[in-house]
Amino acid sequence: MTFRPIRRLLVANRGEIAVRIQRTAQRMGIHTIAIYSEVDRYAPHVEMANERYFLGGDIPAETYLNIEKILALAREAKADAIHPGYGFLSENPAFAKAVTEAGIVFIGPSAEAMARLGNKVAAKQLAQSVGVPLVPGTASAVVGEEALKAAGEIGYPLLIKAAAGGGGKGMRKVLRPEDFPEALQRAQSEALSAFGDPSVFLERYIEKPRHVEIQILADLHGNAVYLFERDCSIQRRHQKVIEEAPAPHLRPETRTAMGEAALRLIKAAGYTQAGTVEFIVDADENFYFLEVNTRLQVEHPVTEMITGLDLVEWQIRIAQGERLGFTQTDLRPNGHAIEARLYAEDPRSNFLPSSGLLYKYRLPARPHLRIDNGYEEGGIVPLYYDPLLAKIIAWGETRTEAIARLQQALHETVVLGVEHNADFIQFVLGHPIFQEGRMHTHFVDEHFDPKLLDQTPLTPEEQEVARAVAHWIVATWYGKT
Ligand code: ADP
Repeated sequence: MTFRPIRRLLVANRGEIAVRIQRTAQRMGIHTIAIYSEVDRYAPHVEMANERYFLGGDIPAETYLNIEKILALAREAKADAIHPGYGFLSENPAFAKAVTEAGIVFIGPSAEAMARLGNKVAAKQLAQSVGVPLVPGTASAVVGEEALKAAGEIGYPLLIKAAAGGGGKGMRKVLRPEDFPEALQRAQSEALSAFGDPSVFLERYIEKPRHVEIQILADLHGNAVYLFERDCSIQRRHQKVIEEAPAPHLRPETRTAMGEAALRLIKAAGYTQAGTVEFIVDADENFYFLEVNTRLQVEHPVTEMITGLDLVEWQIRIAQGERLGFTQTDLRPNGHAIEARLYAEDPRSNFLPSSGLLYKYRLPARPHLRIDNGYEEGGIVPLYYDPLLAKIIAWGETRTEAIARLQQALHETVVLGVEHNADFIQFVLGHPIFQEGRMHTHFVDEHFDPKLLDQTPLTPEEQEVARAVAHWIVATWYGKT
C-alpha cells in the first residue's frame, strides 16, 4: 500500500459535523473544502472553510446526497480526500467506491467492509460466526408462511425490522400473533419505500433494555482497539437524544466482554477506521448485538472527552497510513461525559421538527463544556435536513458533576425563532431515574408527558410576532415561505 499525506479535504456534509471535522483538519494544517446548498450559503461550515463550492438546489437528493455532483466538485477542487461525516452518504458503499475509484481517499472503511456490515442480516450472520451474542430471532430475511412460523418460535412481543433499515425506520413491534400478518405486510412495504429493499427479519422484543455501544478504531495495518462504551438509552422515536460515557452501573466484566466482542466482529469483517458496534443490554447484563455503524457517530464527543483522543484526527491519520500509536492496555477512561442533542423540534408536539430563522441563539462557553454547533444567530434552520442545532457536552470527574454542568449549560442556552428541546432535556436530566443512572430505552415513553414542561418563555403574542418576523425574513431573503 502506498500512502500520501492529506492536504486538501472535502467535507461532504453540513451543520455541526461539517464544522467539527474542519476544526480538526485545519488544526492539522489541512486545507478544507466545503460544499453547500442554497439555504446553507451563509452557514458556519461554509464560512470557516478555506474553499467553498455550491451544490445548487436544496433538497438532499440534489445536494448532499448527489454522488455525481459531489465527485465533480471534489475533482474541480483537487481534493485528495473526502470525509462524509455521518448521515447523508456516509454509509453508502457506492459512494465510498466511487470516491476511491476517482483516486480520492475516502475517510471511512472500504466499500467492501461497509457493505458487509451495512446490511443488518449480513452483519448478524457474521456476528454469530464469531460468537457475538444476538437477540433471539431469524438469522436471515423472512417472508410469508416461513415468517409466521418463525414468529411463533420467537414468541411475542417481537420486532419486525428492515434488513436495510436505519434511523429507527422500518421497525414494528407486534404484541399478538393475530396482528402479525398485517404488521409483516406493512413493514415490508415500508422497507421497500424507505430503503428500496423489502427484506425484513424478526427479533424477540427485549423489555426495558439499555442501548450500549462500543467505539472502535482500527488502522490499515491490523491494529485495533475499543475506546470503551457509550450509553444511549435516552431515545425518542427510537432515536438518541442524550448519550454518555462510561455507561453507568455496568460491571467491568460486561464492559470488557462487549469490547472484545466488538473487536472480534470488526476484525472478521476486515473493517478499518472508526466504527461503532451497537448492543442492547438487558436487566441481567446479557448483551445482544444490534448493528454496526460504519462511520463516525453523532455522539462520538463523549468518547473523546473521556479518552482525550480526537477521533477525526485519528480517522485522518489512519487514512494517511499511520499506525495506531497505542494498544488496548494504554487506554483508561477518565471521568464522565454526557452529551445532549439540542434539536429544532417540538417536545410538546411529538418532537415534530421545526424550521425558521434563529433570531436569538446563544450557547454557553465554560470550562469542561464542549459545544459542537452548526448554526449562528440570524441563520436559517432549513426544513430539508436533520434538525440538529448543536451538541452540548459536559465533562465531570463524576457523573453527578457532569449532569450538574450540563444542566447549567442548558440553563444558559437561548434559542428563539424555532421550537427546540432544551426544556425536555432538562426534564430528563433532573429526573430521579436518570440521576440514578437507571434508564432504559423506554424511559421517554414511560415518564415523559408534555404537560410536565413549563410554559414557553414567550407569551403567545410575542411568539406570534417572532414567527411573523422570521417568516418575513425567510420570504424576502430566499423568496420562499
Ligand atoms: P436503527 O438502525 O433503525 O436505529 P436499531 O436496530 O439500531 O435500529 O435499533 C434502534 C433502537 O430500537 C435500539 O436502540 C433500541 O432502543 C430499540 N430496539 C432495537 N431492537 C430491539 C429489540 N430486539 N428489543 C427491544 N428494543 C429494541
